Amino acid sequence: MKTIGLIGGMSWESTITYYKIINEEVQKRLGGSHSGKILLHSFDFEDIAVLQRAAKWEEANSVLIEAGRGLVRAGADFLLICTNTMHLCACAVEKELKVPLLHIADPLGEAIRRAGVARVALLGSLFTMEMPDVVRGRLKSKYDLDLLTPQGAEAREVHRIIFDELVRGRFLEASRARLRDIIAGLVENGAEGVVLGCTELPLLVMEEDCPVPLFDTTALHAMAAVDFALRE
Ligand code: GLU
Repeated sequence: MKTIGLIGGMSWESTITYYKIINEEVQKRLGGSHSGKILLHSFDFEDIAVLQRAAKWEEANSVLIEAGRGLVRAGADFLLICTNTMHLCACAVEKELKVPLLHIADPLGEAIRRAGVARVALLGSLFTMEMPDVVRGRLKSKYDLDLLTPQGAEAREVHRIIFDELVRGRFLEASRARLRDIIAGLVENGAEGVVLGCTELPLLVMEEDCPVPLFDTTALHAMAAVDFALRE
């Protein structure tokens, strides 16, 4: 089994999910007392959020590369960046480090393709919903997928719920209801599937909140890590 390097803590709320899914899945597949071989670099998320707010993406690249380098030095065979937004740094990390980086858009694109869904909505941070270099560009170029996103006040509300609540461990029924309404509007506009493109969203939004297939980037990414770790 390969050793998985997690660049996490963005936020720690969702890194827990990665840790849990990977260990549970390895145990399920290998049986006995097996669990994942995992190394974790867990950031103080405020340090990352400050760089995001100031759009200091070059600095963010350096910080993530340094974290990845530490994990590789400690024995990681491959890396995951445990957040959608910070995939803005994926290219730089991949270029600098000599181990594979499992991009969060790949298991997502494959799952959407398998589901045979054509029009998909994307919920995530404003960075993820608006900037092509997080996941949208890769989903378009590699999987030929165009994504609908909430607009205006609704987009800002999704972002606010993520940054003011979810990364701080606050899971409110009122926000869940708000997201349910936003999802209903996207489905009305033709979405045949909804991507939870923020690794904390699955902590609040459940399948019953969505009348169409839900694509959970945290679970898909973590499962892809197990596939890769156990591949010969
Ligand atoms: N974890 C979230 C994501 O998947 C948001 C936190 C971050 O900006 O990294 O985008």
